[in-house]
Amino acid sequence: MVADAGHTPGHTDFDVLVLGAGSGGYACALRAAQLGLTVGLVEKDKVGGTCLHVGCIPTKALLHAAEVADSARDSERFGVKASLEGIDMAGVNAYKDGVVARLFKGLTGLVKGRGITVIEGAGTMTGPREVTVDGTAYTGAHLVLASGSYSRSLPGLEVDGERVLTSEHALRLEHVPSSVVVLGGGVIGSEFASVWRSFGADVTIVEALPRLVAAEDPASSKALERAFRKRGITFKTSTRFSSVERTSEGVAVTVEDAKGATSVIEAELLLVAVGRGPATDGLGYAEQGVAMERGFVLADERCRTNLEGVYAVGDIVPGLQLAHRGFQQGIFVAEEIAGLAPVPVEESAIPRVTYSHPEIASVGLDEETARSTYGDGAIETLTYDLGGNGKSQILQTQGFVKLVRRTDGPVVGVHMVGDRVGELVGEAQLIYAWEAHPDDVAPLVHAHPTQNEALGEAHLALAGKPLHAHG
Ligand code: FAD
Repeated sequence: MVADAGHTPGHTDFDVLVLGAGSGGYACALRAAQLGLTVGLVEKDKVGGTCLHVGCIPTKALLHAAEVADSARDSERFGVKASLEGIDMAGVNAYKDGVVARLFKGLTGLVKGRGITVIEGAGTMTGPREVTVDGTAYTGAHLVLASGSYSRSLPGLEVDGERVLTSEHALRLEHVPSSVVVLGGGVIGSEFASVWRSFGADVTIVEALPRLVAAEDPASSKALERAFRKRGITFKTSTRFSSVERTSEGVAVTVEDAKGATSVIEAELLLVAVGRGPATDGLGYAEQGVAMERGFVLADERCRTNLEGVYAVGDIVPGLQLAHRGFQQGIFVAEEIAGLAPVPVEESAIPRVTYSHPEIASVGLDEETARSTYGDGAIETLTYDLGGNGKSQILQTQGFVKLVRRTDGPVVGVHMVGDRVGELVGEAQLIYAWEAHPDDVAPLVHAHPTQNEALGEAHLALAGKPLHAHG
């Protein structure tokens, strides 16, 4: 169906041509096909991209296995006699890979079922709305760039895949390392640190910024740091990587603290989790005149690049690098192309979850941003301790729900810490996106005993009628 690509003047092979079949690209393709548009989806690896194959899904499977290990190890706390005999990584990987394989099969079926043409191979943008794959040029009336991201390293830090790993390598490990240095205390670094600690490894996180998960509200960072300390995870904040040497045992990592003092941390492995860069190099974007900055593709709130009919979604666009942002942007672009005039995806309304033990979940503004946006005196906060929440006590997890609201106005930020709080972020998002006031949420009934009640209780307290809260 694509052989006569663009040879008739004015003819295009597809209504929508998508470069990259990750979260952003495949969501766009699925929605466009649903809307009756013809779609070509170019993918050099596997449909599903980073999130499905080497990101969200496999890491969350590892984190679940880690939770099972913790439950076995801590079973006596609940009066259950069980013991953790060890971690069989082959078994863990089989479970993890099984989850990915089932989802991959389902996704491939969806793509096929919607009549999307998958073009296998590495694509390069060779014209205003043209992508060339293995010498064949394909054209679209609209082109959607969705080539995603890759694991970054630091200057002078060479990843070898054996001692010095990225998250892709870490997901393929066939044994539990005895010790690991995790470079980067952001979401990915904190999640791997959490998994490995649960599996029994000695873990040291090195973070250049003054706190772990620095993109979150400082209260959340503080709670995570406290929990990690209790779990025996070492972390060095305001500490920079200097160099790494391979030793007979593994690696010797030299780091420098804020005062300039250096120290050496020895470990079996070094995980480099210092962020993800846009996968745009050599893809022809700049050559075709796409406006870019530091390798990212610049797009406006309607995901439009500077070129007519060319859109960009997902991790290549500056902003939160999250799968659900990509999904929503992909859907948005498909609907935009179909003329449905959808509402743009609001960056601050995108929920964020770190799936470590304990979890961190948030939506909207942190306290500091809210204060600088609306004025110091125009913001109120309330922190509800999970100590008062029955279900959290049953689970034996600690943490809080922190609300940030405009005085006499809506809730503009929700920040949560505790096991499983990621599951609460859906309601938090509705509260934020619908600009609910605490008085709107307070009368809503939250089932008892659930962790959801903590959200309800926090709003009750902020509405001036605390139930299970002191003070
Ligand atoms: P990608 O998923 O990277 O997809 C891009 C696709 O384009 C890839 O399939 C690639 O092969 C293809 N491609 C690139 N260049 C070409 C080319 N020239 N020709 C053809 N194909 C090409 N996000 C969450 O929301 N929740 C999580 O829990 C989470 N956990 C994560 C854990 C890890 C370890 C990592 C690394 C990421 C995680 N993320 C998570 C982030 C999430 O994976 C990304 O935000 C998401 O995958 C971005 O989607 P995308 O479509 O922009 O790009």
